[in-house]
Amino acid sequence: MDYQIPLFDLNFDDEEEKAVVETLRSKWISLGPKTEELEKEFSNMLSCKHSLGVANCTVALHLGLLLLGVKEGDEVITPSLTFVATVNSIRYVGATPVFCDIKGLDDLTIDPDMIETLITPKTKAIIVMHYGGFPCDMDRIMRIAQKHNLRVLEDACHGPLSEYKGQKLGTIGDIGAFSFFSNKNISTGEGGILVTNTPEYFERGKLLRSHGMTSLSHERSKGHATNYDVVELGFNYRIDDIHSAIALVQIKKLRDDIKGRINVRKRYLANLSSNEKIIIPFKNNLEFASNYIFPIILKDSTVQKRDAVRNQLHEAGIQTSVHYPAVHRFSIYKEYNAQLKNTEYVTDNEITLPMYSKLTHEKIYYIANVINKIL
Ligand SMILES: *Cc1c(COP(=O)(O)O)cnc(C)c1O
Repeated sequence: MDYQIPLFDLNFDDEEEKAVVETLRSKWISLGPKTEELEKEFSNMLSCKHSLGVANCTVALHLGLLLLGVKEGDEVITPSLTFVATVNSIRYVGATPVFCDIKGLDDLTIDPDMIETLITPKTKAIIVMHYGGFPCDMDRIMRIAQKHNLRVLEDACHGPLSEYKGQKLGTIGDIGAFSFFSNKNISTGEGGILVTNTPEYFERGKLLRSHGMTSLSHERSKGHATNYDVVELGFNYRIDDIHSAIALVQIKKLRDDIKGRINVRKRYLANLSSNEKIIIPFKNNLEFASNYIFPIILKDSTVQKRDAVRNQLHEAGIQTSVHYPAVHRFSIYKEYNAQLKNTEYVTDNEITLPMYSKLTHEKIYYIANVINKIL
């Protein structure tokens, strides 16, 4: 059915079309000047040293773990309440995921207390995921990492421009990874970017992104290099200039788009806060947050009750989602036998409501009214 109110809406206008057409007419459509411009803009935007445009965030996470030296036999602590790609990336390098619970129903990010109990001599890294663009407890996580000599990879897919104590998410740990998938804050279809302040990671990342080759074809075409060597077993993880051109337009709109989302969240809070049957996570967050999604959690509920509520919202023309089906419950991760009380409750009782900057007050009021009537 065509939803009256979709979960998400693209904020495209003529600018994205113009950027694509301009790139097509330039006849340089693979990785080239637009990608270089995107990398520069992204580093400026996050106040970090290096950005590396890649095909999507999944490969950014894979590259990130490779660059951090994570390998077979290592353990990596990860949330389960995330998109499956976060955890799959650990398997790509032959390491073992160790699932960690979230802090609670008010804060759906990884629990530092539990991280400490999961550390073994094999632990090499921690992956954190900033749920909805709300920051993990980075002070404590970085302290734990320092104490045990662990690397930190930030899955910051939800949080471009989000902040933690004035620092941009993705730039606090060793490496950060962002996605430009259609429904993310920055939308290009497919696309992603890896950020780091460590020059060695950036230089090696550039090699691994493109077959381990010592020069890129657009550099050769400019006459900078006529020959190349292959020095490592690399991949084709490149983004192309068509997607980078769209990302450049999207980045220009990002801050205003997020301001719109912050207002949407405020409106939801005004209309839903008095409902005692639901929890709205991150209520105490005071930082600038991307507001990638707007989650609510049903109190004293079950998966059956939650699904019934979702059905009623569906019938009222409101599209919803669940963020996320817990990764440790998927068939390929059952053998790890993780038991995560809070993650499991959220998986079974969370509903993601529509969130995009142009969601009108009338529609938010309508959604809230439907929910308040059902509950
Ligand atoms: C979207 C997303 C990914 C995967 O990003 P792709 O660009 O689609 O590969 C990974 N982790 C999280 C938390 C995401 O939301």
